[in-house]
Amino acid sequence: MDLWVKRDDLTGFGGGGNKGRKLEFLMPEIVRSGATAVVCCGSAQSNFVRQMGAACAVMGLRCVAVTMGLPFEPEYGKPNRAVAADGGNGVLNRIYGTEERRLADGSWETLYAGAAAVAEELRAAGERVYEVPIGGSSPMGAYAFYLAGEELGDGFDWVVTATSSGSTLAGLGTWFLGSGTRVLGVSCDPEEENRDDVLRLSGAMAEWAGLDRRLEDVDVRFGYAGEGYGVSSEEGLTAIEWLARRSGVLLDPVYSGKAFAGLLDLVGRGEVGGRVCFWHTGGVPTLFAR
Ligand SMILES: *Cc1c(COP(=O)(O)O)cnc(C)c1O
Repeated sequence: MDLWVKRDDLTGFGGGGNKGRKLEFLMPEIVRSGATAVVCCGSAQSNFVRQMGAACAVMGLRCVAVTMGLPFEPEYGKPNRAVAADGGNGVLNRIYGTEERRLADGSWETLYAGAAAVAEELRAAGERVYEVPIGGSSPMGAYAFYLAGEELGDGFDWVVTATSSGSTLAGLGTWFLGSGTRVLGVSCDPEEENRDDVLRLSGAMAEWAGLDRRLEDVDVRFGYAGEGYGVSSEEGLTAIEWLARRSGVLLDPVYSGKAFAGLLDLVGRGEVGGRVCFWHTGGVPTLFAR
């Protein structure tokens, strides 16, 4: 295997990570809407909340983030442990002036409902509110990764990336449709319906941007999420050390470490090989959660 790493952990804004590209297309839309406040949601260690808060600070917008230490899907059960809610991204949220409203742990649906309630509350108080979907996974967010595919160019047999809310994979997958490059997502959630979100986002992006193609199918692997979203896995932690000690590159316990563990396993099984690009989506601040 000839392994390359696309360093989106170094996108450079707000601590880096894949959400910087999405925000490049989300922020103009938010500013154009005339919003005075943004309501977003995520786990307490959300990298999206961190970068969203940085973008709002720079643009002079109020950012209210509704968070849970460990949101989960009831159907799959609540994991018994989680990456710590404090430290890490939480420290950076305070630096950026993000107003965090922490809810008790519950389902993703409860988190979304909590965010909608906060948006209502702010509207009643006179704010013009823009509600951002989880992970910044809107058609604009996916389009950012469609163009990122163009930036990478051809010459790779595989592009492998972490996936969760889906717009990174939707954009990259749609760009490389019909090319010699196969795109594979390693899911950081056990929930298999997340695959449908990727297809839905590809369609919504195609409509928004006037593209003549959309994903009808996508390669997502669900075997590497461990106990669940927001919980480190043995294999993920081993992968973090593996890459760090060979290259100095840091991965994170929630996303990129699990994705890289998946990549190593798939290479070992002979399912992935040749010239491979691991798309490093960032998340390094979570290493400092405590
Ligand atoms: C958000 C995030 C992902 C997942 O990207 P999606 O577009 O939400 O699927 C992967 N890695 C890191 C570090 C992230 O913060």
